[in-house]
Amino acid sequence: MKFLLTREVGRLARWLRILGYDARYESSANASACVLAAIKEDRVLVTRDRRLGRRHAGTIVGLGCDEVKAQLRELGRQLGLRWDASRMFTRCLVCNRSLEAVEKDSIKERVPEFVFKTQEQFQQCPACRRVYWRGTHWGHVTRVLEEIQKG
Ligand SMILES: [Zn+2]
Repeated sequence: MKFLLTREVGRLARWLRILGYDARYESSANASACVLAAIKEDRVLVTRDRRLGRRHAGTIVGLGCDEVKAQLRELGRQLGLRWDASRMFTRCLVCNRSLEAVEKDSIKERVPEFVFKTQEQFQQCPACRRVYWRGTHWGHVTRVLEEIQKG
């Protein structure tokens, strides 16, 4: 499942990427342009505009809340999706591209020394070359996921 997010729910795009989903952010404020882009790219449109959600049930989700954790919970409920950690950090948070495994030795100069010494697995974005590893964010995101599932 792929997502297209309108401006007002832009923060949610980053979270969907953290969870491994293809989530594109549409900066245009024009609602019909967003709807057309979502249909063309076969994406679920996520918006704060609940009227839009009612008009196009199924392909458009209108969220009623502002807070990102509540939005994730509501989105999961409306789509029957259960967020889990299995795809966590498989996508670049900046470019939305799938990450690729990379040889540890090849990124030595590009990560902090402490990280290089303590981590074994690294992944890289094919577009922007950012390097990802299981750092401190991992624990934080896992805790947020637990909170979402409890609520
Ligand atoms: Zn990237």
